[in-house]
Amino acid sequence: MYYERLKNIYKSRDLQKLFPDILISEFDMFIRKQLKDNNKYINPYKFSYQQNISINDTVKFFIYFTGNDGLFDLLYYFDCSNLACVDTRIYLNSDDPDEIISCEECGKRYAPKTIQKYIKVLFKIKNFIIIPEQRTIERKDPNSTFEAIGELPPNLKIESPSSLGESSQFIDEGDEASAAVDLSLVFSENDDYKGKPISTAIERFKRICLSMEEE
Ligand SMILES: [Zn+2]
Repeated sequence: MYYERLKNIYKSRDLQKLFPDILISEFDMFIRKQLKDNNKYINPYKFSYQQNISINDTVKFFIYFTGNDGLFDLLYYFDCSNLACVDTRIYLNSDDPDEIISCEECGKRYAPKTIQKYIKVLFKIKNFIIIPEQRTIERKDPNSTFEAIGELPPNLKIESPSSLGESSQFIDEGDEASAAVDLSLVFSENDDYKGKPISTAIERFKRICLSMEEE
């Protein structure tokens, strides 16, 4: 199901054309590597760095993989402002973002309007999506020997020293926090380059936030 979803989104949303620099195999490999490294969240900054594309384009690309038929759930959170509970994340219900939220640890209550600019967003692989260890291989060359034997060429193996080297600077950065992007970035990139929202759920959330600001 994982790879089918990945492939369907690439095809149906015409991603190869919109993001010619991002091959489906590269994205697939990236997701697998992140999970293999026990990262709960898929880090757009890391992908942006590896692919040498802007964080804006990366977030836009990631948004295509959200939604019911997608791979990612979006988690919205902010940190409690009480210094005593600095690591306490307060998650928002994006279906009902205008409810009053309180910190579980100190009980501090927050009005949704006041916390919007502190909201961060995480991309998490949907719980029910299992990614099989055996990688599905799609090669451009139909006569590829590697496809025939169902294995990756040695230099493309996920654990290759070069790919580890490239990502090493991210390892000690507190993966969860560094995987989060600003809500405003998600809002601004939820646009298919033609003025239409990529994700209707994000668009709905954005409208609620905007209407709160106007109150
Ligand atoms: Zn608190």
